[in-house]
Amino acid sequence: MPSRDARLELYAKSGGYCEFLLCYKHCHEEGTPAGDPPQNTGEIHHIRSASKGGKRYDATYPEHLLDQVGNLMLLCSDHHDIITKQDKAYTVQLQTTWKLHHEARVHRGGAKRIEDLALDLGQLKGRSKGRCAYPRCTTRAWTRDPLPERGTLAWTVLPIELPRSSKKPTCLRYSNLIVLCREHRQEVAQRRGDHPIALLVSWKAALEAAVRESDEYDRNDNYDRD
Ligand SMILES: [Zn+2]
Ligand SMILES: [Zn+2]
Repeated sequence: MPSRDARLELYAKSGGYCEFLLCYKHCHEEGTPAGDPPQNTGEIHHIRSASKGGKRYDATYPEHLLDQVGNLMLLCSDHHDIITKQDKAYTVQLQTTWKLHHEARVHRGGAKRIEDLALDLGQLKGRSKGRCAYPRCTTRAWTRDPLPERGTLAWTVLPIELPRSSKKPTCLRYSNLIVLCREHRQEVAQRRGDHPIALLVSWKAALEAAVRESDEYDRNDNYDRD
């Protein structure tokens, strides 16, 4: 059981947000005017199992580090459930990568930047319906829960205009992001010269217009509108 200090450290480093890739659910509820106390809803997850015989127990990992922040992730209850049950896909290495990226992002930009990013990604997902913007490709490039073998959301989004300086955070705004399937993302990323900004912008606009139209058309159907 992680100490109170270790749990506080995890809350601070994660910013209080679920550390599952691009979830960003804020794991805190305010108290209510009726007098209910505030609740921390985050669940503390062990990346390597803390008990011998656990699914992700690693005998080579120093025992005194098992309950330290480096082996802990803050997760919302949904993602805690998924990561625990689907332990073949969500390996120790993958979880560690997500955790480190998340915490570096919090460290660099703080909670405000995460909220902005979550909003921009939500807008991008809504307007593209997660479909690849490459002409005539309709691959569902964006899965509800990123799984490593299917390519993850992080790998299917590409900045249209590359930042001139790495300090420029505007690179990750909705207007500068395009959803592409893995294959097309690779093609565009590798041959930037053949895919000028104006071309990518036109693909994005065409896809979003098509999504809007089909949305109108399917408004009363059981259209998958995640
Ligand atoms: Zn989550
Ligand atoms: Zn594609």
